[in-house]
Amino acid sequence: MRRPLVAGNWKMNLNLASARDLVAAICSGVDQAAIKDRVEVAVCPPAIYLYPVADALRGSSVCLGAQNIFHERSGAFTGEISADMVAETGARYVILGHSERRHTIGHHEDDRMINLKVRAVRAAGLTPILCVGETLAERQSGQTLDVLTFQLTAGLVGVSVAHAADLVIAYEPVWAIGTGHNATPEQAQEAHAHLRANLRALIGRVADDVRILYGGSVKPDNAAELFRQRDVDGGLIGGASLKAESFLGIVRAALVKAT
Ligand code: PEP
Repeated sequence: MRRPLVAGNWKMNLNLASARDLVAAICSGVDQAAIKDRVEVAVCPPAIYLYPVADALRGSSVCLGAQNIFHERSGAFTGEISADMVAETGARYVILGHSERRHTIGHHEDDRMINLKVRAVRAAGLTPILCVGETLAERQSGQTLDVLTFQLTAGLVGVSVAHAADLVIAYEPVWAIGTGHNATPEQAQEAHAHLRANLRALIGRVADDVRILYGGSVKPDNAAELFRQRDVDGGLIGGASLKAESFLGIVRAALVKAT
């Protein structure tokens, strides 16, 4: 039985005071047995807020995640942070391969770079949330499943299968992120089942323990239908993770998985 995971990707939003307020509201909604025993919840603030958010999460079941790392352990890499630095904050997760890093920001990360980061995160004892997903043009030209196979396989090159059960994959169709157009539950299930079949080929039966999250315009009113799909094990949430009420609505929707 896979325990559902709902992770909030705050991106470059909030200030310190609003981050603290948001964490306090999320914790009071999550830290009750009916939820925390059945759904895992994580928040991924901007790197500069990792320590204060870690402080605010002390004593809570809500986990901490980072939005990115650089793959080298140390050195002349101005502006970057290492996986070990993130581990020191008490974080458990690192989002990698997010579509904004693949397609929008700076030099556009390719699959080789993402794989180096996945390996660095594993070496630091952290769990990658490896994001994969097709663009609208790729979906419209029938390439979705091939793109997913390629990104998943490339992202996991050299990753040991010995402790693979805790890996987290996020299916995030690029056309659904921040657009208000979520994948249908059927589209999500098709992609997730395909990713799990690919994972079985890569890491064997442990693939059945790996959580595959859906991300892309998840809201409280569409979350339950998405999470009800057999291979959808929770969500990676952008915009709706910035307000406690909507994020908690999505967390509660994940109870459909846990019952
Ligand atoms: C994301 O950025 O990972 C995401 C899923 O964003 P949104 O929920 O806003 O579509």
